[in-house]
Amino acid sequence: MDRWVGKVAVVTGASSGIGAATVKQLIKAGMVVVGLARRVERVEALKDDLPGDERKRLHAMKCDVSKEEDIVGTFKLIEEQLGGVDVLVNNAGVGLGVANLIDAGNTETLRTVIDTNVLGLVLCSREAVQSMKRRSVDGHIIHINSVAGHRVPPIPRFNIYAASKFAVTAITETMRQELRNEGSKTKVTSISPGAVKTDLLSQDLIDSGVPTLEPEDIADGIVYVLGTPPRVQVHELTIKPVGEAF
Ligand code: NAP
Repeated sequence: MDRWVGKVAVVTGASSGIGAATVKQLIKAGMVVVGLARRVERVEALKDDLPGDERKRLHAMKCDVSKEEDIVGTFKLIEEQLGGVDVLVNNAGVGLGVANLIDAGNTETLRTVIDTNVLGLVLCSREAVQSMKRRSVDGHIIHINSVAGHRVPPIPRFNIYAASKFAVTAITETMRQELRNEGSKTKVTSISPGAVKTDLLSQDLIDSGVPTLEPEDIADGIVYVLGTPPRVQVHELTIKPVGEAF
């Protein structure tokens, strides 16, 4: 991780779960971290657990990744205040397992999932790549995908969530090809967790006693892929709890 010390990592969805755990680990690894979320006060609160010198390296910014104007404005602010983006962890995501795909009147749910999990991820990636190109930086973009981005698990009310994560699988390879065609050394990685004990996991699923990972297990994976030598691109990293059924 030495080459990332003092460099800027942007983590979307930093207010809870995997994003919050990632912020803490990247700060520990010596990075300057910008944590984005709508509940920005929760990102601010992460500073309470950090020693003073580490606290200074965490910047909390309010950003709704389902809104293009928020994304463009936030990345501009990051450029002005911190110089630009070297690492992006596209972690923000919603499940909204409240309705089936074919249920009546579910349009808003469908749009929210796609706007957040797919468009938000692509627009953040676009802004980050532009920032890297302007400064001739070989950066790293990490998408938090899901095992549901490779196979649809038989979970009720999964809605368009799996489709949104299948899109992340395709976007990862599309971005890799586009960057390669431009001669860029910027890396793109998809990390696909199984069930992780966070607010996103439905209470029904937790109550059913399925095996779960901790958010820190995924943050460990992020630190691993970032720490690989410049010649190595981990394209896909799947992390399941032992005994997962899907
Ligand atoms: P979580 O604790 O519910 O965290 C979700 C994060 O996304 C929150 O910080 C939330 O922040 C943010 N977010 C949601 N909508 C947003 C928006 N419009 N703009 C900005 N931020 C937004 O759940 P998690 O499990 O850590 O989820 C993180 C990622 O892991 C997601 O992409 C999820 O699909 C993926 N994943 C989770 C699991 C699992 O079992 N938990 C498994 C596989 C993949 P605010 O609400 O404060 O904005």
